[in-house]
Amino acid sequence: MSQGEIRGTGPECKSNCTANHGPHGHPSHAEESPEMQRVAQRMRRVKHRILVLSGKGGVGKSTVAVNLAVGLARSRKQVGLMDIDIHGPSVPKLLHLEQRALNVKGDTIVPITVGDRIKVMSIGFFLPSEDVAVIWRGPRKYGLIQQFLADVEWGDLDVLVVDSPPGTGDEPLGVAQLIGRVDGAVIVTTPQQVAVLDVRKCVTFCEQLDVPILGIVENMSGFVCPKCGERFDIFKSRGGENLAKEVGVPLLGTIPIEPEIVAACDNGEPYLDNYSYTDAGRAFDGIAQSILKALVESERTPETDTPASPDGIMRIAVPMAEGRLCAHFGHCEQFALIDVDPDTKEIIGKQEIEPPPHEPGLLPQWIQEQGVTLVLAGGMGARAQDFFRQRGITVIVGAVGEESERVVREYLDGSLKTTKNLCDH
Ligand code: ADP
Repeated sequence: MSQGEIRGTGPECKSNCTANHGPHGHPSHAEESPEMQRVAQRMRRVKHRILVLSGKGGVGKSTVAVNLAVGLARSRKQVGLMDIDIHGPSVPKLLHLEQRALNVKGDTIVPITVGDRIKVMSIGFFLPSEDVAVIWRGPRKYGLIQQFLADVEWGDLDVLVVDSPPGTGDEPLGVAQLIGRVDGAVIVTTPQQVAVLDVRKCVTFCEQLDVPILGIVENMSGFVCPKCGERFDIFKSRGGENLAKEVGVPLLGTIPIEPEIVAACDNGEPYLDNYSYTDAGRAFDGIAQSILKALVESERTPETDTPASPDGIMRIAVPMAEGRLCAHFGHCEQFALIDVDPDTKEIIGKQEIEPPPHEPGLLPQWIQEQGVTLVLAGGMGARAQDFFRQRGITVIVGAVGEESERVVREYLDGSLKTTKNLCDH
């Protein structure tokens, strides 16, 4: 793959297609494809994923996404900003990155860095000019998003912020399906009724996809005259606030209309970097802090320690011998694979299967192929633990218990007892 090249399909492609699409252009068995395995591997290194959505264009969604990324980076977080607004990618412009060349090494795309903490990838980097209209159908968009998740060298991130196009079309749907677990959506609106009505669709969309809503941002919320100090509610007021109340989600902040925001956007300078002392700056900062707080709170639940596999199910393996949790990993005869719904933390399935012969490195590979993201083991040697970690699988050793389902339940409710690792040799 050379610089600026995107894999794709269909007559509108500008380059060779190597993406895994099914006979009708849809990804076939995407969760099993090597591409999806790469997505899962990369996403295991991303602690939190956030979607920034809006019902309509022009409400300031990208401005919020950029300033959110900056706000998180100011709180010393490593941030990824992925712009999948295929028809109007504005992140390169908002960060003045239009002229920056992409570095592509083989199949890996190196994101563009802004400061020490923000990595950016945008469809805009692949388009020959800002004037090019992109005409892509759903499968092509899906392939691109998959490629951004699989091939971009995001590294270890605290938060990946995804700037979606307005509406509830292929792109946010594609991300929600591919990314594994979305921590939450931030919905941006302006206060007037016509914009708020469209936001309801975003709310329903999130509900249907089981994406939690972190909250609503009301942008362009009033204008305070710099000369007389009087406030004018140009787009009415409180539309976002009322909706947040009605839907029962937090109002993350209200950002006033601020001419300097337009200037900062046009100059490619993140507003928050230079105007953190203004009302709008404080609002952007407050939004970032509220989101960070919600994410930190979510870290306390076991599900974030145990990432769901790309199909959205948490699969936990318990090594067993003679029908009970095995004290020595190397002696296990069977694995209980227990499926858990990451939202309700209910056990939704269980199977017991025989592993292949015990050879160094073979079991971790096999376990990964089963879609497992967590192993609850009695005892396990340090070398075997390393093999699992290299594959992004969490291992808890020293688990005490007998019956596999009970061990999993105790882990999920935080009551699992652990002792010294019996196999630490
Ligand atoms: P969207 O991503 O929703 O299409 P953008 O973030 O590209 O919207 O913003 C659209 C325009 O509105 C840009 O010119 C931006 O500078 C301007 N803008 C966004 N928020 C504000 C604000 N609070 N005050 C003034 N202008 C704003």
